[in-house]
Amino acid sequence: MIVLFLIILLGASIGSFLTVIIFRTTTQETIVFRHSRCSHCRHALYPLDLLPIISYLLRRGKCAYCKVQISWMYPLIELTTTLFFVLAFFLSAFLSTNIIVQGVMFFCQIILLSVLLVIFFRYVHSKYLC
Ligand SMILES: [Zn+2]
Repeated sequence: MIVLFLIILLGASIGSFLTVIIFRTTTQETIVFRHSRCSHCRHALYPLDLLPIISYLLRRGKCAYCKVQISWMYPLIELTTTLFFVLAFFLSAFLSTNIIVQGVMFFCQIILLSVLLVIFFRYVHSKYLC
């Protein structure tokens, strides 16, 4: 049970990082060495504003500083990544009883899924939201 909780935490955190990659690479911004900011008012976001999925729900989808609606893509990407990580976890456990093989399969699946999610959501973002 604790492992599943950690998988959910890992999936949500990686999903949050994938949103950084998706949104910043479409605007040619660096993905490292810069604090996250509101895309509207440019206010730096504090740790409570950066909790995957939870921050969006706590703030009711709005920026805590300027109250502008935040894109629904942020929680969608975080939630999709979390669900894919949980599915990869159970699929790995289903396909093998060897813990090392399970770990390798899980790692390969989450890398592949993360790349596919970035490609898909970058396409959606550039095609429909820019
Ligand atoms: Zn704002």
